[in-house]
Amino acid sequence: MNSPRPTSDSASDAAARVLSDGWSRRIENLRISVTDRCNFRCVYCIPEDIEWLPRKKLLTFEEITRIARVAIECGIKKLRLTGGEPLLRKDLPKLIGELARLPGLADLALTTNGTELPRLAKPLADAGLERINVSLDSLDRATFEKLAQRDALAQVLAGIDAAEAAGLLPISINCVVIRGVNDGEAVDFARFARERRFEVRFIEFMPLEHGQRWGEHALVPGHELRARIDAEFPLAPSPDQDPHAPSKDWIFADGAPGTVGFIDSVTAPFCQTCNRIRLTADGKLRTCLFSLREHDVLGPMRAGIDDAGLAELLVGAVATKELKHHISDGLFVKPERTMSRIGG
Ligand code: SF4
Repeated sequence: MNSPRPTSDSASDAAARVLSDGWSRRIENLRISVTDRCNFRCVYCIPEDIEWLPRKKLLTFEEITRIARVAIECGIKKLRLTGGEPLLRKDLPKLIGELARLPGLADLALTTNGTELPRLAKPLADAGLERINVSLDSLDRATFEKLAQRDALAQVLAGIDAAEAAGLLPISINCVVIRGVNDGEAVDFARFARERRFEVRFIEFMPLEHGQRWGEHALVPGHELRARIDAEFPLAPSPDQDPHAPSKDWIFADGAPGTVGFIDSVTAPFCQTCNRIRLTADGKLRTCLFSLREHDVLGPMRAGIDDAGLAELLVGAVATKELKHHISDGLFVKPERTMSRIGG
């Protein structure tokens, strides 16, 4: 199903390269937003009246593949495609095929809202996609619609079934939790993880929304959700915890399949082990989710920069990567760019 990874000298050379920031953190993950467009209007992400980026401002597949190739040659190991909703980008399996063939790439994943998976799960898997995260904030139809402002729960669940059938495993479910809206579903999601052998990740609501919706009143700390689940399904720390992963994972102590994870960006930040940078759909490098500055890549590329120049630009940007976010230390300034234009 998944096309095998190319093995060559350049693959082993790339594998040996290390990309470090000014704090000696190894940067190995590049998240690439392939579009700002989305068919949902999640209340913590996109305003109803958003204006999309003009197509000529979007990175082409060739440009994305070139940046990814150079990034891997500099030391990036893993790629994740995001949006907006990445599956709205026409011919995305073609891009997946190009990226999957890059020497030195260790992992290729994608985050989606799932609505296009019934149509695309198999072509994506055949093209070389390995793993998928599906954003699903509620298992209740009315609450789902309240959050996404689209009555699409059934479509997303059908998309998850299609991804499972296509072998895009393990499936991770990303659930952004907002107090008083969907936090009452923590145990239901844990049951969902057990029944479907999924990895359900609960994501703390972060101040990257459009408007002023974020605040301590809306935030549910991960430890609170964990306590609720533990009371129903006792948990134990996962023995396979990736020290660099944003999610802190737990298994069910009774041996049931599935896991639950907590991405506590606000109440238990994990910046000290951060290994991620981001590329926006309009070709800006962001060295932190909450960056207040960006590094233009698209402009120099269209002006004819060569690969060595592109590598220098990337390495230079990474060297300026922020140590951490400032959400809780009184120094926080909300970035202008909202989540839908960063890609999470
Ligand atoms: S807030 Fe920035 S530094 Fe911290 S984990 Fe996220 S991307 Fe990394």
